[in-house]
Amino acid sequence: MSASKNASIPFIDLAAQRRRIGPAIDAALVAVAEAGQYIMGPEVAKLEAELATFCGAAHVISCASGTDALILSLMAKGIGSGDAVLCPSFTFAATAEAVALVGATPVFVDIEADTFDMSATSLREGISTARAAGLRPVGIIVVDLFGQPADYDAIEAIAAENGLWILDDAAQAFGATYRGRAIGRIGQMTATSFFPAKPLGCYGDGGAIFTDDADLASILRSLRVHGQGSDKYDNVRIGLSGRLDTMQAAVLLEKLRVFPEEIVARDRIAATYGEGLAGDVIVPTVIEGATSVWAQYTIRLPAGTRDTVAAALKAVGIPTAVYYPKPLHLQTAYRHFPVAGNGLPVSEGVAEQVLSLPMHPYLDLPTQTRIIDEVRAAVRATR
Ligand SMILES: *Cc1c(COP(=O)(O)O)cnc(C)c1O
Repeated sequence: MSASKNASIPFIDLAAQRRRIGPAIDAALVAVAEAGQYIMGPEVAKLEAELATFCGAAHVISCASGTDALILSLMAKGIGSGDAVLCPSFTFAATAEAVALVGATPVFVDIEADTFDMSATSLREGISTARAAGLRPVGIIVVDLFGQPADYDAIEAIAAENGLWILDDAAQAFGATYRGRAIGRIGQMTATSFFPAKPLGCYGDGGAIFTDDADLASILRSLRVHGQGSDKYDNVRIGLSGRLDTMQAAVLLEKLRVFPEEIVARDRIAATYGEGLAGDVIVPTVIEGATSVWAQYTIRLPAGTRDTVAAALKAVGIPTAVYYPKPLHLQTAYRHFPVAGNGLPVSEGVAEQVLSLPMHPYLDLPTQTRIIDEVRAAVRATR
């Protein structure tokens, strides 16, 4: 990749990873094509075992997408009408969509501006809001946004006090850790995504659920295949066609080999951004004792300047993205659901400030230096 002036830079460079492990992935795909076990071939069980070893979870259930991982998890809990699930509004739509799809009510909670993750104070308010609305709070979906774990010590204490389960939406955070615990071992269940742009992505859609609860694991395995029982033609519950393709498992097995090194590279690149940009923009902070996998490197700019800075960067060949321009509680399909307390000012505020910069494990230093210089120049030009 050239760092020359105005050469265009990819936002996420999947081709760079292909230059490293593409031949091994292609060989693995050909092997699956020739073996012919396209559904639930041996690579699926092998991947589940390796993912379990990676994070230490007792059970891993692979599935068709991160969204299915959330839906299957909520189906396994048997929730529905009248049940409230607390979740952030500043997240990808799938988080709340899964709640609404199973017939329960998402109750939106605010975030902390410095980490973009759930605010414990707002969570408490959300639980009261849900009760006041005549709903029964049953659980919390915590999102580890942009790859960094939320502050689970505070959230777990509130969950325990109120008898709520935790489902970790770690679609962006598989590979991260929180105070000695790997993502995959926090909460009753963890859902992740293998969408290509996530830190561990496949060549299409994919996802997985992690749990230490053997009963939930067996329900999830049944739900993933139409609710099948021990006899294939006696379905014991209503489920989904939610399996992970064998080909995607084969891709992930190859990618998992380099994933630990990629996590180290992501963290080094985030540190370089932090050092280069801290004087000019608000850089993201990771809470003490946690590590992030940096699914996104998201800075904050004074409201009103973000779009100008993004346009200036685009003009010099530097792509950026806005995750997320509109919190869910302001979106058409979600605005009738309850919000914690008197509204979600932090979510609404950061939506006007956030800008995500190119981030992937193969971002070289000359390119990153160019990005840092251009961001600083673009930000200074707005003053
Ligand atoms: C990507 C994502 C999902 C959904 O994952 P898919 O594999 O695209 O279905 C859910 N939640 C969050 C926070 C995500 O970023």
